[in-house]
Amino acid sequence: MAEYTPMIQQYLTIKADYEDAFLFFRLGDFYEMFFEDAVKAAQELEITLTSRDGGRIPMCGVPYHSAPTYIDRLIEKGYKVAICEQVEDPKSAKGVVKREVVQVISPGTLMEQGGLEEKENNYLCSVTQFEDDTYGLAFSDLSTGENSVTLITGSWEEAIAEIYAKEVKEIVVDANFSGEQLQKLRERQTITVSFEQQTSNLESFQSLIENIQQEKLVQTFSRLVHYLVRTQKRSLDHLQPVQFYQINEFMKIDLFSKRNLELTETIRTKGKKGSLLWLLDQTVTAMGGRLLKQWIDRPLLNQEHIENRLNMVETLMTQFFEREELRELLKEVYDLERLAGRVAFGNVNARDLIQLKKSLQNIPGIQEVVSRLGHPYARELAEKIDRCEELEALLEKGLKDNPPLSIKEGDIIKDGYHDQLDQYRDASKNGKSWIASLEQHEREKTGIKSLKIGYNRVFGYYIEVTKSNLSSLPEGMYERKQTLANAERFITPELKEKEALILEAEEQIVQLEYDLFLHIREEVKAFIPRLQSLAKIISELDVLQCFAKISEERHYRKPSFSADGNIAIRNGRHPVVEKVMNSQEYVPNDCHMNSDRSILLITGPNMSGKSTYMRQVALTAVLAQIGCFVPADEAVLPIFDQIFTRIGAADDLVSGQSTFMVEMIETKNAVTNATQSSLILLDEIGRGTSTYDGMALAQAIIEYVHEHIGCKTLFSTHYHELTVMEEELASIKNVHVSAVEKNGKVVFLHKIKEGAADKSYGIHVAELAELPTPLIERARIILDKLEKQDEAGADLEVKSEEIVQVKAEQESIPQEVVEENQLSFFDFSERKQSLSREPELSKKEKNVLQQLKDCDILEMTPLEALNKMYELQKYLKKKSKPPVITGGLLYGWKPLLLTKP
Ligand code: ADP
Repeated sequence: MAEYTPMIQQYLTIKADYEDAFLFFRLGDFYEMFFEDAVKAAQELEITLTSRDGGRIPMCGVPYHSAPTYIDRLIEKGYKVAICEQVEDPKSAKGVVKREVVQVISPGTLMEQGGLEEKENNYLCSVTQFEDDTYGLAFSDLSTGENSVTLITGSWEEAIAEIYAKEVKEIVVDANFSGEQLQKLRERQTITVSFEQQTSNLESFQSLIENIQQEKLVQTFSRLVHYLVRTQKRSLDHLQPVQFYQINEFMKIDLFSKRNLELTETIRTKGKKGSLLWLLDQTVTAMGGRLLKQWIDRPLLNQEHIENRLNMVETLMTQFFEREELRELLKEVYDLERLAGRVAFGNVNARDLIQLKKSLQNIPGIQEVVSRLGHPYARELAEKIDRCEELEALLEKGLKDNPPLSIKEGDIIKDGYHDQLDQYRDASKNGKSWIASLEQHEREKTGIKSLKIGYNRVFGYYIEVTKSNLSSLPEGMYERKQTLANAERFITPELKEKEALILEAEEQIVQLEYDLFLHIREEVKAFIPRLQSLAKIISELDVLQCFAKISEERHYRKPSFSADGNIAIRNGRHPVVEKVMNSQEYVPNDCHMNSDRSILLITGPNMSGKSTYMRQVALTAVLAQIGCFVPADEAVLPIFDQIFTRIGAADDLVSGQSTFMVEMIETKNAVTNATQSSLILLDEIGRGTSTYDGMALAQAIIEYVHEHIGCKTLFSTHYHELTVMEEELASIKNVHVSAVEKNGKVVFLHKIKEGAADKSYGIHVAELAELPTPLIERARIILDKLEKQDEAGADLEVKSEEIVQVKAEQESIPQEVVEENQLSFFDFSERKQSLSREPELSKKEKNVLQQLKDCDILEMTPLEALNKMYELQKYLKKKSKPPVITGGLLYGWKPLLLTKP
């Protein structure tokens, strides 16, 4: 280090403690970065890389005043920034100015509005893995002060699911935490990882953990607090007492299912628009917006709590005027939660506090409207509202209504708030009026009408006389101070005396106003917990009014709950599709499920509305359990403990998994975790693999759910062959989405009907997709032949590649799958050709021959050989019809059914 300048040495010493962050090193009006930081920052921020010390030290920098934008950009990319300031006055410094890191900004510790979404929480999470493989998780949103903890007793996957559910931006772990687990966590989402070893209990944060019994959770939360203290280096007075929750208090919807149902973002764009959250969000405060998102992520299981919400929504729906009044009042309420955070951090200005005052002025009105609603839960909420009147009075008394942005220029504090300030102001005002009267007096005395008194920063107050009037000025009384082109400026001892008084008063005023403002801000700090409780009620009211508004606008109905697990939805709709497509066009559908029909097997053409139907049932359940009315004329639902979905075929490219693998993982999640009280939606399972494979898996999955889980399941499939399962398994029922053919064109009716679909309309859909007409016509000819062949057992005149092509178009199968399938189709045409020459071996016979060929006779005992022969003979004797391929489907394929229970 010795060869570097003292300043660079200082930089390196500080940087050594902040290896994982960009060190923004304050140099005058710039934050500079050096060495690797500079190279990387220049790249990430697209700023010019320079160097110092003869090119030895790469360097780049950003101006102090525009630093927040650059910091936001780095944070958004998942980096951390350590802000290093000059902590002594450069003028009085001996040698290198003393510098210290004053704060580390990271994705999980954002406080300023720039990088924060108004209606989203920003969570930091600390994780501790214990020896018994339980995981303590502690979450904190530094911007609102909200803290919570939970203990995961399942697997790391379960902990990951929880971390994803909260959209955590940064996690804090022990340095020895498993790298493999971290890797798994970061597979799907960018999450910044930070390390903190300390887990000892911090005395000053004792009050926050009073409600936590378990030592494991105390340790986990302490890790988080240690990290915050170490990086934020300032008051954390706004941190709220930690809430303990258990993940099974809420409906569980795993990450895949949340995505598939598009609860808070859409699959395609990953944006809010088009999601359930987007549809529902009629909240008018930022706090309400954040709570709405939390509620959607966490549907309730406790019927009483759900009904409390539903009843409030009903009350607000029937009382239109009160609701509108409430909405208007809520609109005036500022983000109290984040404001409280900034008060604690010491970065609010007078304008923020005026906003706070205005917010508080609306609280009595809100309380009054809510108590007027008359409902017991409304009364309970109204009673809990804390108006924080003393705070409102303090702000009203102390602060002017239109203060400047800066808190260092005065003009903030009202007259009458502070005696000393009033006296200074009087002095300043009196001085000024004395000067005004002096002007009059001097004019009369000298007879110069144009004489005037002015002020500038260099000379202070002066008397100005035009050159033509100079002769009228008495000699010796006026001291010349400045000469202008056509005037002279003078001062008098009397004028200077007054000026000193005025200027001193003004200086005192600015300083005193600043001190008084800081004092008021300190006083506001004491109200933080009360403001936070108030914020909770305000946000709840906001979400409830939002539910009422949307329910009324979209004609939703209050759901009720059945203890026997039955579903009875009349005229249900998909909330988002209905909104997007104009409600007149949306075809409502019923859904009836009970113990005799716990699995609905849904068939119907592509694009007819199968997945829309399945999703609408799930979304109806979610809406009901978050306490909102539902898009149906009537809905009776069980309270579902979990929802699992496998819908859509989006490749999970980020984590490098194929469609089929994702499909299987999601199915595994469902069948291993679902209980009888869960809801499973499986859409077109098995279509990502070859036909037999897919069909076999689909059937086995249905059987498994039927036999081992018994929960309500919606299963859509294009394998018509599966519909025979209805005859064999007690609780399976076929339904289909109807379509009709008009003038050779398919018309989707989007109506769910009992029974299985009659055909698949693949070619019609291909036609709708505007495939070339010759191709469509050719497909029709091939299909026609295939069908005739099926009926009459006639020979085929179709080339194998064409069959594959038709099949691919009809089922929109990816090319790889087509290629994979070509083999089996080829087998088929080969069989057709060989028929003319000699009797063809059935697939079964070929299979037996292959197995015989594969036998290692020398390794077998006589008994094993005998058993094998017996097995093969039995297999050959068993009757079954060989498969015949028609129109992309395999008719005559009879599933191997379980015996009837
Ligand atoms: P499938 O799963 O059968 O392929 P989707 O559920 O994806 O079909 O539906 C295809 C399209 O049909 C939807 O995007 C929507 O525009 C329309 N649709 C679905 N259900 C309805 C309905 N009930 N009423 C009107 N249009 C619908």
